[in-house]
Amino acid sequence: MARLRNSAGSVETGGVISAVTTKSPLCSLAWRLVAIYDGALPELPDLTVYLERLEARIANRRLQRIVLLNPFLLRTAVPPIGTAEGRTVQGLERLGKRVVIGLEGGLYLVLHLMVAGRLKWDEKRDDKPPRKITLALFEFDSGTLAFTEAGSKRRASLHLVQGQPALDAMDPGGIEIFDSDLKTFADVLLGENHTLKRALTDPRLFAGIGNAYSDEILHRAKLSPIAMTKSLSAEEIGRLYAATREVLREWIDRLRAQTGAGFPEKVTAFRDEMAVHGRYGKPCPVCGAPVQRIVYAENETNYCARCQTGGRILADRALSRLLKKSWPRSIDELG
Ligand SMILES: [Zn+2]
Repeated sequence: MARLRNSAGSVETGGVISAVTTKSPLCSLAWRLVAIYDGALPELPDLTVYLERLEARIANRRLQRIVLLNPFLLRTAVPPIGTAEGRTVQGLERLGKRVVIGLEGGLYLVLHLMVAGRLKWDEKRDDKPPRKITLALFEFDSGTLAFTEAGSKRRASLHLVQGQPALDAMDPGGIEIFDSDLKTFADVLLGENHTLKRALTDPRLFAGIGNAYSDEILHRAKLSPIAMTKSLSAEEIGRLYAATREVLREWIDRLRAQTGAGFPEKVTAFRDEMAVHGRYGKPCPVCGAPVQRIVYAENETNYCARCQTGGRILADRALSRLLKKSWPRSIDELG
């Protein structure tokens, strides 16, 4: 821990300014990887709207049949998947970044979309062969829910579990921001000393926040993504708490309005209305300075140097060391 704080300190106090090299082959390779894999994983606002629209379609409906088109999607053997058929949907909920369909008899279908997984709804019962990206079909008496995954990596998953304890065991444990007061938020944030980026996206600490919304939250709070949690003042923690709730609330409202009564179709981590995420080089909507980035492993973090880091562009050796120690290494960790 002491070494962690030291390396953070040298970044924060050293004031090293060096332009991010964007033209080296390594960087452009990293950028291409980011463009493909960057946290497009649906986060709390997207999942909230998914659940609301699903509820309108399948609550109290009977799940008639499950068609598994890719056997690797299902990660549980007991109870057998066939036991879910014929049961009525009794509740829908989000568990971290997972979608949970509760069935009568205490069975739960747990869908983890990961990065490229999506849900589609089809009211018509057309007999077109499913597209290659469709991993499973859930046929209800009201229509069919398709679980799809783009790309070639198979990371999306389906679990069928029996009973509340088995469901609870799948919860990464992060707090729900809208159910948490400032003290709870502060206690969780200060439980370990990490960069703010790592802390916000850690599913064991906070539920439903990933790469995209953490960028937006930190920009709203005017805090550096590499600031260490234990270095924050009480005022800064209050600002971060308020920004987290504001940003997520605004995006839930925005996505609800965009989706209307339909089913969400454009579920993406890149949206024009975002202030900094996915907007490298574009002007910050608050101050007009170009949005900056930190590319590391499979993730890109975006921030405004003028609004968040006192004008410092974050790129030096100390930063590299810090990224290795206290940064979300891969999107898999953001589950
Ligand atoms: Zn700015």
